[in-house]
Amino acid sequence: MNNDKPSARPGAAGEAVGRDCLFCRIVAGDIPATVVHETDTTLAFRDIDPKAAVHVLVIPKAHHTDVVALAKDAPAAAADLLAAAAAVAEAEGVHTDGFRLLFNTGRYAGQEVFHVHGHVLGGEPLGPMLAPR
Ligand code: 5GP
Ligand code: ZN
Repeated sequence: MNNDKPSARPGAAGEAVGRDCLFCRIVAGDIPATVVHETDTTLAFRDIDPKAAVHVLVIPKAHHTDVVALAKDAPAAAADLLAAAAAVAEAEGVHTDGFRLLFNTGRYAGQEVFHVHGHVLGGEPLGPMLAPR
């Protein structure tokens, strides 16, 4: 089985978009979220299960499955997402001591929600990037 084909991913080719996509539903206001930043094209809200003192998810309002699809299909939205993540880091006060901007992408990275999102993580020392091998 080839899971690398875009059509095999949720969110591609019309799957898991809109009503079926958790983050599209947050954008639509169907599911509540603690919004910390919003632009015409992006939304940032606190992760429901924070993994650090500051843990904010930054998403494009339009549905794109992952960062690869976003970069290919909507580079302007990708730039907006990066700018929004930087604005969140500043607003949350994590940019001075440092923070992580993380995009889990696909199976090996454990991506759970197939609407691209950057994790802004900070507010405390974050430890090594990955568990030691
Ligand atoms: P992923 O593993 O796909 O990179 O990250 C998905 C993130 O979404 C997880 O950190 C998870 O805690 C978060 N999450 C899942 N469901 C909800 C929800 O309903 N609301 C919010 N705010 N975050 C959620
Ligand atoms: Zn979506």
